Amino acid sequence: MKCLSEDQLMAYYSFELADADNQQIEKHLKSCPLCQEKAALIEHLTFEWQQPMKEAPLDFSKKVMRRTHGPLPKRRKRKLYYQLSLAGVAALLFLQFNLPMQIIQLTDQTVNAVHITSKKFNQVVQHKKNGFQKNLEERKDGGPKK
Ligand SMILES: [Zn+2]
Repeated sequence: MKCLSEDQLMAYYSFELADADNQQIEKHLKSCPLCQEKAALIEHLTFEWQQPMKEAPLDFSKKVMRRTHGPLPKRRKRKLYYQLSLAGVAALLFLQFNLPMQIIQLTDQTVNAVHITSKKFNQVVQHKKNGFQKNLEERKDGGPKK
């Protein structure tokens, strides 16, 4: 008997063959290490196929995706890469250009500018008030001149 094919072995381990065929296969397996090796693999695969796990493991879909689509779907990988590079740029800005200090300084400058502006505004208001009062007093003092 010549060596067994994968189809024959699968049929054997799936109990699809007649008794006579089974006996022939068993006879060959006893004498052929090559087919024993092949048979061990097919027996294992057939067993796994016939006894699927009742619940898929948590990372089952990840495993399937990995097997069918390579490491990760491209779009997700690109998005992840994009997010990582954004985070990298942000970290770089913070470290290299001391962004927090700049933000604090900028805030201080803004507060100072607002403070100075309001001070100047008050001065202007005060000046106008003074001018108005001075004007009023002058009118009072002078009175209507005839
Ligand atoms: Zn063989």
